This record gives sequence, C-alpha cells and structure tokens, in this order.
Amino acid sequence: MTQGKASNQTYDVLVIGGGINGVGIARDSAGRGLKTCLVEMNDLASATSSWSTKLIHGGLRYLEQYEFKLVRESLVEREILLNAAPHLIEPLRFILPHHKGLRPAWLLRLGLYLYDTLGGRRLLPPTRKVDLKTGIYGMPLKAEFARGFEYSDCRADDARLVVVNAQDAAEHGADILTRTTFKSARREDGLWHIEIAQGRQKQSIAARAIVNAAGPWVTSLFDTIEGAEPAKGLRLVKGSHIFTKSLFDHEKAYIFQHKDKRVVFAIPYGRDLTLIGTTDEPYEGDPSDAAISEEETTYLLNAVSQYFKRPVTPDDVVSTYSGVRPLFDDLSKDTAAKVTRDYAFDLQGGEGEAPLLSVYGGKLTTYRKLALDAMQTLKKHLPEMGPSWTREAPLPGGRTGYAGMAGFRIEMRSRYGFLPEAARERMISAYGFRLPKVLGNAVNREDLGTAFGGELYEAELIYMRDVEWARTAEDALNRRSKLYLILSEEEQQAVKGWFDANPPAPA
Ligand code: FAD
Repeated sequence: MTQGKASNQTYDVLVIGGGINGVGIARDSAGRGLKTCLVEMNDLASATSSWSTKLIHGGLRYLEQYEFKLVRESLVEREILLNAAPHLIEPLRFILPHHKGLRPAWLLRLGLYLYDTLGGRRLLPPTRKVDLKTGIYGMPLKAEFARGFEYSDCRADDARLVVVNAQDAAEHGADILTRTTFKSARREDGLWHIEIAQGRQKQSIAARAIVNAAGPWVTSLFDTIEGAEPAKGLRLVKGSHIFTKSLFDHEKAYIFQHKDKRVVFAIPYGRDLTLIGTTDEPYEGDPSDAAISEEETTYLLNAVSQYFKRPVTPDDVVSTYSGVRPLFDDLSKDTAAKVTRDYAFDLQGGEGEAPLLSVYGGKLTTYRKLALDAMQTLKKHLPEMGPSWTREAPLPGGRTGYAGMAGFRIEMRSRYGFLPEAARERMISAYGFRLPKVLGNAVNREDLGTAFGGELYEAELIYMRDVEWARTAEDALNRRSKLYLILSEEEQQAVKGWFDANPPAPA
C-alpha cells in the first residue's frame, strides 16, 4: 500500500483513529459496501492499541465488579477472534495460586466456574485445580503456594491485530491514510466538510458520517468539530508493563492476586522474556507522553516478588512500556482500577444533519462487537449499508479457523525449512496463511535479500512497507514485530537506513 491519498468523491464514513476500534469500524463499514476512509495521525496502533497486556480475555477480575454482560460478551468474542486470526491469537493457560490472606478458595472456584460457562466456551480447555507442591508450574513459586487453579484465556499480538483489520478494510475498498491528521469538520447541506493533513499538505474531503475513534483523544477532537459537544465523560487511566528476563521455564502464565485486590500477570513472552503488568493510575496530560514511574516499577516488582521464590529486582528489567486507557466515565466514584471497561457511544446530529458518532472506552477483546454496534447505531443515517458480516469472516492471515493452524505450521516448517527456526516460527505467527506472500518462492536465505541480524530479512521489510503501511524502523520493529527487543542497536540502525533508502512508491 502506498501512503494513500483521499478520494475526491464523498465518503459515506470517515473514521478518525487507527487504533483497534477505528480499524474495526472501518473494516465493518467497508465490508457493508460503504465508501470508507480512515485517518490515523501517526502509525496504525501507535497509541493504546499497542500498549495493552495483549490478552483476548473475559477479564476474570471484572466478575467481582458484577460486569457479567461485559465478561460474557468478551468471552464470546474470545472464541470468534481465535477462529478469525489463529495466527495472531493463541490459547494461554493461566495459573492462579491460592493465597490464604486474599480471596477464599470457594470464591475463586465460583468465579472460575462462571468464567468457564458464561461465554459458551467451545475451543478452550476448562478450569482445573493444580497442585503446586510438585511439578514445573509450582517450582518457581514460594513453598506457601501449594495449590491453585489453572484456567484458559488467550493472548494476542495487539498491534498486528490492528494492522490486519486495516488490511481487511482496505481489501474491502476502504482508504487507509496513515500519518494523516484530522484537523477540522463542519456540517453543510447534510454532509461533513473535513480538513485533513499529511504533514504540511492539507486536503478537503466530504463524508456523510464521521466516527470519532480517537481513543484517549476522543474528547479533545470536539474542539475542532463545529457544533459538537462532548456529552460523555472520559477517564484516562495509565497502565504500565515491564519485560524482564524469563522468570520461569514453562509456557503457562501466572495471575497473581495483590493485597490491593488488583491482579498482576506474569506472562511468558517470546523466547526468553516475561511480561509483567499492569498498573492502574489516574492520568492527566498528553497520552503520547505516558511513561512508567518509579512507583509503578516498584509496585509491579513487589507484586510478583511476593509469589516467586527469587525476588524480581530492577536488574531483571529489560524494557518497559506504558499506555493510557481511554475509559468511559460513568461518573461513579470508582477507583481507576474499577472504572468500567465497557464501551459507550455518543451519537450527535439531528434529522437531516450529518451524524457524528464518538466511541468511549472498550477493550481490545470487544473491538469487533463494538464495530458492529457502531454500524447498527449509524444505520438510520446510512440505511443502504449491507448486513453484519464479520462474525464468521477470517482476518488476513487467518483462513480455516483455529483448527487449521496446526497443519499449516507443519506445511510452512517444511516449505521454509531453510530459515532459522526462531525466525520461521515468529513469521508463521505474524503472517499466518499469508506467509507465502512475504517469502514468495524463496528456497534459501539469499533469496530473501539483506539479513538484518539472524532474525529479519529484507523481504519482510518490503512486505511491511508495501502491504502493512510501515514507514519507519519503529513501525517495523515495535509494532509490525517486536524485534526491537531482540535486534542490537546497530541492527536497528541498519533497518532505519533501509527505510531511508527505500521509501514507498508515490501514490
Ligand atoms: P487507540 O489505540 O489509542 O487509537 C486511537 C488512535 O487515534 C491513535 O492511534 C491516535 O494516533 C489516533 N488519533 C487521535 N487523534 C487523531 C487525529 N486528530 N487525527 C488522526 N488520528 C488521530 N484490552 C484487552 O482486551 N485486553 C488487554 O489485555 C488489555 N490490556 C490493556 C492494558 C493497558 C495498560 C491499556 C492501556 C489498555 C488495555 N486494554 C486491553 C484496552 C485496549 O488496549 C484499549 O481499549 C484499546 O486499545 C483502545 O483502542 P482505541 O482504538 O479506542 O484507541
């Protein structure tokens, strides 16, 4: 895909924001036959959607907040998404050690029973008790944790999930304009007249409807939209994560209960890292500036050190990231951790007026359902839209659903047997059934062009640039992949040099 230019024709829908909710809505809209444009001021998934804990989950702890509807919907979505993108989403078992001083075992058992049954679980195995006195899952834990439970959820590559949704939107005819900022809009003759800008280059476009899916910026956009009033509240809540050197030697994750009733995850990541998160801190300020504080680092390290035999110290920290949740503020007095993770819409525009639909809150897990609801909400303004279609539709790279993935892995291992194992497995997970489009008919490593460290080849960068809107080394190494955690500084500089020397073809 080239950088992209907007069309001179009137769009049916303009979506602001290339996070998971914006691309999900653009995909749904384009697939219903509506002429759709999405503008993203930076790279796709450059904000909250790449800062998550990367779980496609019901959210066990939300049961305690009586969010049964949210948990049920999320669990239903978990299986729908697992089928749609089995390369990017994978089942993960969580060990929940029982802790005498916190929630009683009967309450955990009840919660896990509900978690197992609420969403009509079909693909994932059920909860079971685990003995932590013996075996590898208890080995890294302190001796006082003798028993616990093990339950199912899924993890995902959050940023790539955004990219494949944008790809699908584009394949259904949407214009996806990255590095394009929404500047302003005014209503005239039943249409929105909109100013967008790519760098200094401004362009005017027209659309019948605007969807404001700007995440943490959703309310600040109201200042630029004539006649629009922010009718709902937004609470920004910072969440930080830490990557440490691997803290245990198996493939399952841990969910730890903390004294303050929050939970902290320790999730195996890549080949030799553990992802620890997250915090919940009220946040004011520019969402792009969010960064982990010393207190958050201490909080996370203390939380996991209560469980692991070996204390986890700042020396174990390899990297960190922080993001801001744009939560819908239902004006309750709840603490940051308890603010609802459900979403809400605000539709403005009366009879004969062009509508403005703003999206508040949500989770990565519920983006498809959110998109579907957004389109239903707009239906009275865009009555010609086609029916809903995303429930059974695979995302780019997915094809035969979760069950087909194992056979495909075996086929790819044999076809691209010349690749180092780690690189091959990473690429199968990243591109799924589209891997042959990335690697083509290559029969040896030389066919893939320049090698950037043992992991990354030029063929992959070309694909990221031409098909996935990657424009910089950061796009490629932080969001299309997580190779920034693996490549040396020198190798990363070489990738930067490649992007400088190989810009995309002009639109
Ligand atoms: P964003 O991803 O922030 O996208 C909004 C986009 O709008 C941005 O890319 C921004 O650049 C763009 N934009 C803003 N203004 C303009 C403009 N003027 N012009 C053009 N573009 C503009 N959910 C889960 O389901 N599972 C989890 O494990 C999970 N963990 C989380 C952990 C943390 C710490 C956080 C912060 C969130 C977590 N979430 C999780 C929630 C989930 O990540 C968010 O709900 C989701 O990513 C929000 O997506 P979004 O599209 O609304 O916002």
